[in-house]
Amino acid sequence: MKQQTLAIHTAPERIDPHGALSMPVYHSAAFEFDSAADMEGAFTGRLHKASYSRVVNPTVAYLEDKVTSLTGATATYAFNSGMAAIHNALVTFAESGKNIVTSKHLFGNTFSLIGGTLRRFGVKAKFIDLTDISKVREAVDADTCCIYAEIITNPQMEVADFRALADIAHQHNIPLIADTTIIPFTRFSAKDLGIDIEVVSSTKYISGGATSLGGLMINYGRFDFVDKRVRMELLYNLGAIMTPHAAYMQTLGLETLEARYAMQSANALAIAKALREVEGIESVNYVGLEDNPYYELSRSQFGDTAGAMLTFDLPTREDCWKLIDNVKLIRRATNLFDNRTLIIHPASTIFGNFPASVRRSMQVNDTTIRLSVGLEHPEDIINDIKQAIQ
Ligand SMILES: *Cc1c(COP(=O)(O)O)cnc(C)c1O
Repeated sequence: MKQQTLAIHTAPERIDPHGALSMPVYHSAAFEFDSAADMEGAFTGRLHKASYSRVVNPTVAYLEDKVTSLTGATATYAFNSGMAAIHNALVTFAESGKNIVTSKHLFGNTFSLIGGTLRRFGVKAKFIDLTDISKVREAVDADTCCIYAEIITNPQMEVADFRALADIAHQHNIPLIADTTIIPFTRFSAKDLGIDIEVVSSTKYISGGATSLGGLMINYGRFDFVDKRVRMELLYNLGAIMTPHAAYMQTLGLETLEARYAMQSANALAIAKALREVEGIESVNYVGLEDNPYYELSRSQFGDTAGAMLTFDLPTREDCWKLIDNVKLIRRATNLFDNRTLIIHPASTIFGNFPASVRRSMQVNDTTIRLSVGLEHPEDIINDIKQAIQ
């Protein structure tokens, strides 16, 4: 079956006794067993049955199974935020004395998780230019535990060659971990690109319009110890599993993902094209524009859409703030892929607590505005930006 169909019809592990069509929300901390032997089975990982909702919950497991069937992965683990998924994925491989090869062009909190929090536990970071494959080859050494990359960086909108990154990782028997939040996993095959662990902030497209926080770690099975470490160690010890209620909403979100994404990415392309013609806008950065430097590489890896996020530059920071203050329809908020279009000035918000020198090295510019395109008619969004610039 096609993914669009699987997103709706993936069968639950057990038929609901009442015949519920959507997976019920199992709001129960604990689950009962028939025997001591079954209890032992569940606690040692031999028996796949819910025991305690910090480790397994049927509603959460249903979302995980759907994602596994949609991606062709070997397992999916659902966490209570994108950051929790990223943290769990990294500590599956990292340990004191090891290093992570990555770029400075990362989601702000991922940057400070790797460069700050994990560093306090002895994990080193090598921030390099991942679009320069010779630099990656030089950086990976015997102590490297993974290569970590985002598929389209935000807000720089940069794309690396994932097959080349995967080749280097696999020569060293380490994983390529990729944050694929910006383009849904239904649109391309992370597995075919050589990505071993995919992490996704399901808060974004999958939640179905900013309904809830969530994160997914999708395991493509190259490393045998991963499933055991996550299920038998990290879920127990870090306690970051998704809540049943969020899993319910995100399962519904997954069912409508294709329809929403098709419209949102088409809207983003239409808006990117139109904004280039607006007087006062210096430049528009969207990987889906044919003259974008990453257009071909992005298409060859992630298919014919480029997501629903774009950035544009105005002459000064003051101009950016004025525009943001003057939009009427577009909402001033962080987050991506809400049903409504959102606007933000990344340098003064998401990256506002970073020293100016760090922002410069991350290429987060004072003159850049980020737009997350929603489901409104694109003309209304374009007109709102035009009137705000006026
Ligand atoms: C939002 C986001 C995250 C963090 O996800 P949360 O669900 O907010 O914790 C990580 N990476 C990318 C690319 C994101 O857009």
